[in-house]
Amino acid sequence: MFIASREKPLKLLWLEALMRRLLKDDVEFHYFQEQYRRLDAGFAGEQKVDREWHELICPNTFYVLHNLHFKNAAEHIHQLDTLFICPQFIFVLEIKNIHGRLEFDQLTHQCTRTKIDGTVEGFPNALTQTERHIRFLKSLIANYPLPIEGAVVIANPSAIIINPSNALPIFHVSGLHKHLQLLFKKYPQKIITEDKLTQLVQMLLSKQTAPRMQTSVAPSRIRHGVLCPKCSYQHAMSFQRGTWKCSYCHYSSIKIFAEALLDYRLLVSHNITNQQLRTFFGIHSSDTATRLLRKFQFPYTGTYRNRVYHLPENLLDHMERFY
Ligand SMILES: [Zn+2]
Repeated sequence: MFIASREKPLKLLWLEALMRRLLKDDVEFHYFQEQYRRLDAGFAGEQKVDREWHELICPNTFYVLHNLHFKNAAEHIHQLDTLFICPQFIFVLEIKNIHGRLEFDQLTHQCTRTKIDGTVEGFPNALTQTERHIRFLKSLIANYPLPIEGAVVIANPSAIIINPSNALPIFHVSGLHKHLQLLFKKYPQKIITEDKLTQLVQMLLSKQTAPRMQTSVAPSRIRHGVLCPKCSYQHAMSFQRGTWKCSYCHYSSIKIFAEALLDYRLLVSHNITNQQLRTFFGIHSSDTATRLLRKFQFPYTGTYRNRVYHLPENLLDHMERFY
């Protein structure tokens, strides 16, 4: 078996950084906070389902891939929470971590959630989303004769599912193993060889598109500086003799700079100049900024004066090597 590890989606990393830095009186603060809560709960739900795979008893090789991003012919995004692939079939899982009463209307295809306090809100219909993913996958793997099945898995045990569709199964995470056993019974024959299976997985991974942030927030709307984690990111720390220090709680750290620079990469830009580093992080001396940038050996372009440093995608791991 091969079970991929699930990485935090870019949008969640972006929202985490934004929650640290967005000014509390920003007009969109509550909007982004709600987005963050939903995405964070969604990620926690996906992780809960991930733990189930390790207990799966399956006679054949299987692959579990997470958070796959594809673009269809119309340039629209398909984001697949989890894909289970074995020589008998492919199984698409749409995972929802929602509490309350979830009601599916067959005629309008609307999904509504009623909270314990009685508030009713509309949700994107996970069943329709899954059907859309299945249609797309069928065209993507047209050269492989594997059947594609799908289901919506509810990660929150307190959710109550009302009026589910007949077209696609929807069940709590506790029903996952039983549902897989039904699929193994439905498709007892291996349709493709293990070599072909590996080839299919590699093809799927290679067809992915890198997720990109569609939203941005002007740097004037966020708090600048290296923010103190002990002060809930409310105060900027100052750089003194190679260490970042908080004048409010006296917390000091060298490594905290990596987290702050990651916020900069997520919210502002993938590139930074000496001048931009000084302005954003409140460093007074140009030499200090140069030393800091050189210490981490970031790749750069341009001559000394106009040098632009490129912050790598694996920024935290990259910087860890130089501490
Ligand atoms: Zn502090």
